Amino acid sequence: MIKGSCLCGGIRYEYQGEINEISMCHCSQCRKAQGSAFVAICPIESALFKITAGAELLKEFRAVSYKARVFCAKCGSPIYSARDDLPQVKRLRLGTIETPFQCQNAYHIYAESKASWHEITDQLPQYAEGKI
Ligand SMILES: [Zn+2]
Ligand SMILES: [Zn+2]
Repeated sequence: MIKGSCLCGGIRYEYQGEINEISMCHCSQCRKAQGSAFVAICPIESALFKITAGAELLKEFRAVSYKARVFCAKCGSPIYSARDDLPQVKRLRLGTIETPFQCQNAYHIYAESKASWHEITDQLPQYAEGKI
């Protein structure tokens, strides 16, 4: 079982599935949403994901109409994003996970949009835009 929380600890969640993918997105929206060079996410099954505390703190922002970026209203930690047309999937922000896990299936997306000051120095696959 994967457990995680936001920075203030108000929001806690559990995920019964596995983290089998690490998608590092360098697009300009993700960079702004995280305040960082990229975001690391994993697509997860909504049915196996449960908010166990602080559901009332979940706030969402939509940079595009069909996709909600969900964060903690108190501390600002990004928790997940979800598309209206794909309710069975959420994209969990891996930085909020507390349970140690390993995953070799990592890759970069929107590598062409990366920050000018950031160099990708690993040998992981890079996709210019999204992964097909
Ligand atoms: Zn919080
Ligand atoms: Zn992105």
